[in-house]
Amino acid sequence: MLAATCHCGAVRIEIPHVPTEVTNCNCSLCRRLGGLWAYYDVGSVKVVGHPEKTNEYVQGDRTLRTVRCATCGCTTHWEPLDPTVHKRMGVNIRNFDPVAIGDVRIRLLDGADTWETLDWNELK
Ligand SMILES: [Zn+2]
Repeated sequence: MLAATCHCGAVRIEIPHVPTEVTNCNCSLCRRLGGLWAYYDVGSVKVVGHPEKTNEYVQGDRTLRTVRCATCGCTTHWEPLDPTVHKRMGVNIRNFDPVAIGDVRIRLLDGADTWETLDWNELK
């Protein structure tokens, strides 16, 4: 288990293991948020302070919500609106200590258009 908080500490995220890769997506929402997403099964991640200390945004197709701290505004994760249908969630790994995350590959996902992987980078 590895834990991190948003900038102000109101929201704590616990992931079951360090990711081996994270996704940088260029879709209309992700490019604005600037997050790096690590994917986990919904039940395997604990978000302490959510939803009491968070705000959410639900976009057009209403399949998921992006969640941010209501105090400092840092995006913590996205999660499915219906976890019985979609079982995966994305944690914004930018909240974690880069030293704790270590060497992880960044996948550049073309979520704006083709949904294909465009490139790989290293997290620096
Ligand atoms: Zn905060």
